[in-house]
Amino acid sequence: MTTTTEEKKYTAKDFQQPNANDWCPGCGDFGIINAMHQACSKLGLDPSSVVTVGGIGCSGKAPYYMGNYGVHTLHGRPIPFATGIKLANPDLTVTVTAGDGDGLGIGAGHFVNVGRRNVDITYLMFDNEVYGLTKGQAAPTLAMGLQTKSLPGPNIQMKLNPMMMAYASGFTWIGRGYSYNVKQLVELTMAAMAHPGLAFLDVLQPCPTYNDLHTKEWYAGKDMEAPRPRVQALDESYNPHIDASTSEEDVLSHARRFMEETHRWGNEIPTGVFMENTSVNNFAERIRERVTTYAEQTPARKVIEDSNGNSNVDLTGIFDELAVN
Ligand code: SF4
Repeated sequence: MTTTTEEKKYTAKDFQQPNANDWCPGCGDFGIINAMHQACSKLGLDPSSVVTVGGIGCSGKAPYYMGNYGVHTLHGRPIPFATGIKLANPDLTVTVTAGDGDGLGIGAGHFVNVGRRNVDITYLMFDNEVYGLTKGQAAPTLAMGLQTKSLPGPNIQMKLNPMMMAYASGFTWIGRGYSYNVKQLVELTMAAMAHPGLAFLDVLQPCPTYNDLHTKEWYAGKDMEAPRPRVQALDESYNPHIDASTSEEDVLSHARRFMEETHRWGNEIPTGVFMENTSVNNFAERIRERVTTYAEQTPARKVIEDSNGNSNVDLTGIFDELAVN
């Protein structure tokens, strides 16, 4: 993460981009992009050091509404783009914005394998249980038996638990937020971006156009006998921290609690930081152990042409080191 070192302080407005926005009125996406603007400025980031990488879907448009660098990639492919950007230039702060369909459907292979690498990027999942951009088909987070308004009958596929999938894949920071609780979402986004490894933030969000079951009224618990918000902060007794000194017994105990809390989905849905694991090297650190010149010669820092425009790239050193090891 690169912070501003000079007097210039960037505000949330500096991270906004006034492009025409075609998200539907009331969409939870607005809360998420608002939280991203605020989180970037509160972290003291320079917009020129931040990259937002979108997939395909309503969420994939997020880079257009950020005032920093952005890439709108292919369906299910924002993770490979983000990985390449981060490894080419580790000074950048890189965030993926993708839906549950993009990340857990067509992009599931990338989701699992980036976990094995612990690349220092943040993945914000816009989790609304439907494919909103293509008229509301069931996404991987919609539970079996539920029938949202576009479906001809109840969903006959089981749902994936995105947080359990992130845990099993090796993500080292895992949290859950809600798009209508922007204050908490700013804190969670900041914590995810500041984590020196792979972070996953599952953001529950209403899709008022196609998900007529889990609406903002439902999340507000207005259907309950004694209405109260379903999304609530994790119990204070919950400890998300794991480091190199955590005993195996405590890791197992955390895993049990993690599983219990992420499966709570009813009149109470816990939000907050579920795991913060600093015991695992990130991918750039692993590369540095293998290629000792990586820190000084990351691809983005290489001078690739002479004054006449002729290529002067010399990868000999890198290949030699790889061969030796
Ligand atoms: Fe938001 Fe749903 Fe509209 Fe997409 S279709 S912009 S997710 S409300």
